[in-house]
Amino acid sequence: MTAYDDTNIFAQILRGEIPCFKVYEDDDTLCFMDIMPRTDGHCLVIPKTPCRNVLDASDAQLAAVMSTVRKVANAAKAAFDADGITLQQFNETAGGQEVFHLHFHIHPRHEGVSMRPPGKMGDTDVIKGYAERISAAL
Ligand code: AMP
Repeated sequence: MTAYDDTNIFAQILRGEIPCFKVYEDDDTLCFMDIMPRTDGHCLVIPKTPCRNVLDASDAQLAAVMSTVRKVANAAKAAFDADGITLQQFNETAGGQEVFHLHFHIHPRHEGVSMRPPGKMGDTDVIKGYAERISAAL
């Protein structure tokens, strides 16, 4: 398997080299908003320690990340009065992964509302507001 490369954008966020809209953090994990949101409230949960994806993650990394995913997913569901939550997680390029630091996407979902296509930048003020909304529900 390819080695972890600490020049990836999420490693830069963890080092504070580039900003993010933080939702939640604890000793082991960080949750922040996706800047190209496919749903209102689309956010990402990552471990603070390095691994590319699920394939090389340790049990401890996965346990910590999933605990935060559950916590934030419940908060996002409440914050957006959502009917459900979609989790997405991609592994390696062929699996759809673009940033090679383990992350889970959390999407609040409403009945009959499709996810938007990927790759479109969101409005930063709106994203900031959504981060605050989820944080307040935590
Ligand atoms: P993937 O690896 O396929 O799960 O995609 C990476 C995700 O990271 C995409 O949804 C991007 O919109 C998101 N993304 C890329 N750069 C940033 C960033 N600087 N801050 C927040 N999200 C980002």
